[in-house]
Amino acid sequence: MNIPKTQKRYCRYCKKHTEHTVRRVSAKKVRGLLSHGQRIFKRKMKGFGSYPRSNPKGRAKPTKKLDLRYKCKECGKEHTIGKGFRAKKFEIKRKV
Ligand SMILES: [Zn+2]
Repeated sequence: MNIPKTQKRYCRYCKKHTEHTVRRVSAKKVRGLLSHGQRIFKRKMKGFGSYPRSNPKGRAKPTKKLDLRYKCKECGKEHTIGKGFRAKKFEIKRKV
């Protein structure tokens, strides 16, 4: 799927339609401190013994929902679309 990099969308801060640039947000990278559960998990994975939970067989859904952010060119605020959609292949088209 291809979507244009700039789109005219409604900005609720400017209360009108303005040009927006699209940005795809990828999953956050974990940095610094891990959560409590993650620390326990790491300890369990150390040394001998297997994975603490059985391996999940296959994912229910092969694709993930996209997290898209639209940035208003006028006020510079970013907003999301309410519901992401699924796409196997996704590209943001650059303006030629
Ligand atoms: Zn705006």
